[in-house]
Amino acid sequence: MPGFELIGPEETKEVMEVMETGVLMRYGFDNERKGVFKVRQFEEEFARYCGAGYALGVTSGSSALKIALTALDIGPGDEVLVPAFTFLATWESVLEVGAIPVMTDIDETLNMDPADMERKITSYTRAVIPVHMCGSCARIDRIVEVARKHKLKVLEDNAQGCGGAFRGKKLGAFGDMGIFSFDYYKTMTTGEGGIVITSDETLYHRADEYHDHGHDHNPKVSRAMEGRSILGFNYRMNELQGALGLAQLRKLDTMIREQKKNKAAIKAMLQGVKGIKFRELPDPEGDTATFLAFNLPDAGTAEKFQQALSAGGLDTVCYKKNAWHYAPNWEHFLAQSTANSKKFPFTNPMYKGNARYDSKDIPQADDLLGRTLVMGINIKMPEERMTQIRQAIEKAADIL
Ligand SMILES: *Cc1c(COP(=O)(O)O)cnc(C)c1O
Repeated sequence: MPGFELIGPEETKEVMEVMETGVLMRYGFDNERKGVFKVRQFEEEFARYCGAGYALGVTSGSSALKIALTALDIGPGDEVLVPAFTFLATWESVLEVGAIPVMTDIDETLNMDPADMERKITSYTRAVIPVHMCGSCARIDRIVEVARKHKLKVLEDNAQGCGGAFRGKKLGAFGDMGIFSFDYYKTMTTGEGGIVITSDETLYHRADEYHDHGHDHNPKVSRAMEGRSILGFNYRMNELQGALGLAQLRKLDTMIREQKKNKAAIKAMLQGVKGIKFRELPDPEGDTATFLAFNLPDAGTAEKFQQALSAGGLDTVCYKKNAWHYAPNWEHFLAQSTANSKKFPFTNPMYKGNARYDSKDIPQADDLLGRTLVMGINIKMPEERMTQIRQAIEKAADIL
């Protein structure tokens, strides 16, 4: 799963080029930096890799979500559709811009169910955030179609599917905007970091200005002297992150290729096991293979199988019990405990809707996630590890 497995001399070389100039900031210091612009170069190469017009490097995947929602002008009074199965940050970003997240169900892809998404639309809905969880795509073609019909903005959260595709087009490039995370667990990493992509020039400029206190970064005018049109904040990526990003991006296709090889081998070991069904992949070719997910006929059987695998040295995750990735488990969210004592935006009088967070409203997630087991796939999986996994699976299969 993680790009940190491949950190090596290529990353060191890129970082040292920054260190040799001493300029760690992406803007300014034109004489001192000797032509080194790592963040800018990383943005250009990342945009090209994704087939997008623009990319903007930022401090994290979480801030990328907030910046994109801000660029899309989502705010107080608005509802945003989000899947019940995602990392908490997807939901937090909606609250960060003053809007209200609306919980949608998932389907056999483990990603947003386009039919439930359409059912959950109200007169307050302004945007949808499909998430490509665990390295494989949502039914993004259908989601975009439903969104267009209802005039909703689409922001793809592709924090977990970097380098993935659907029918030849890179994930993140289907929506009005897409975001990626480069935190230390993600497919490629810059330690902490993220990026926003879009092919809409206006959205790019709004994101760019917002992420740096309203500066428009017009190269012809000093950064201190522009006519600024919106206020913003500081979510700037630094040159060390840009340097790491460049080296990791060049390894991304190798990471995915190796993971695919390992995933296929483990899938073959599970193939014949009684009652096991694999997660549906809308485009197996475009899978990044960071995870392998499969389900059993019921939650009790899944739990027993999980314990047996674990006894053999193979750990898996049952996301229904996970504290970070399943909305009904977020006690602080359910208590509306935003970091301000007034519980804004839940208490915002501009919000006229009636969003609720009851697991009865997501029956497919409630069923599927309780009997699905997910294992992380590594880039480096030596022969001994593969043998251990094979033996763990063979032994666990006996209890079914
Ligand atoms: C990791 C992650 C994020 C947040 O990214 P950070 O860089 O850790 O802030 C957002 N969404 C999903 C689905 C993630 O997995």
